[in-house]
Amino acid sequence: MTTQKPITLKLLVDKKSNRVLFAEAKKDFVDFLLALSTLPLGYITRFLTTKNMVGSFGDLYESVENFEDAYMQPNVDKDAILKPVWAASFTSSSSTYNPLLLPSDSVATIKYYKCAQYGHLSITSDPQTQCPYCKSAMSTKINYVLPKTAEQGFVKGATTFMVTDSLKVMPMSAISSISVLKGFNIPDLSYVQEMEVEFGTKEGMKLLKTALQSKTALSDVFLWEEIQIEMMQLDAAHDDTEKNCNNNVPPDLSTSTLVMEPGIEGMARED
Ligand SMILES: [Zn+2]
Repeated sequence: MTTQKPITLKLLVDKKSNRVLFAEAKKDFVDFLLALSTLPLGYITRFLTTKNMVGSFGDLYESVENFEDAYMQPNVDKDAILKPVWAASFTSSSSTYNPLLLPSDSVATIKYYKCAQYGHLSITSDPQTQCPYCKSAMSTKINYVLPKTAEQGFVKGATTFMVTDSLKVMPMSAISSISVLKGFNIPDLSYVQEMEVEFGTKEGMKLLKTALQSKTALSDVFLWEEIQIEMMQLDAAHDDTEKNCNNNVPPDLSTSTLVMEPGIEGMARED
């Protein structure tokens, strides 16, 4: 299994609120994001695995896996549902463009076939298909060749893009970055830092999952561990405060069910 070379991304992060304000990205990352929109749900479920798939699609996918062939149409291959071919326009027998950074052996290449007879100009993806002219099997393989002049992927290579935490994509400019920063209403810019990260297959899978369920997709992928640590620290601090507060509660009140929040109760009594 060959893993794709990771993409380098520059993130602007607000360390105080621990969120990604935006990412500065090149064609490779934007192509990755746009490619997500072209994915069939079966493809997404397969790569996130049924356990990790959001909603009920994991169960739907699993039930198709377990479905006996006897219940399927004789010419239907279950793989057409479970492993749908994606982005045929990026793959050919000679070259593969893989903007999703998936392991290369997991990118399906559509194979095309025709009738062996000269002049019978129909193509199919199933070599068992009958030629509409002579009824013989269309089993002669033909190669799809990627146009040489065209740049691969979706967006032009020379542009630098800005990608927000909720994955809005726009061309990068001083004006666009200032207006995004203004939208965040950050009181203290000294907490805003630049961070360089690598975006590979693992991060790609995480982003695919978070993009389906979160409006803070980039923060979730790149700052998640930091957020967890901070939450643990917060919990620990909260526990300490609670212990201290409990120590201050007079013994006769500490057993009362009303004293759930000693600090607040204490303040109310003083009034
Ligand atoms: Zn034919």
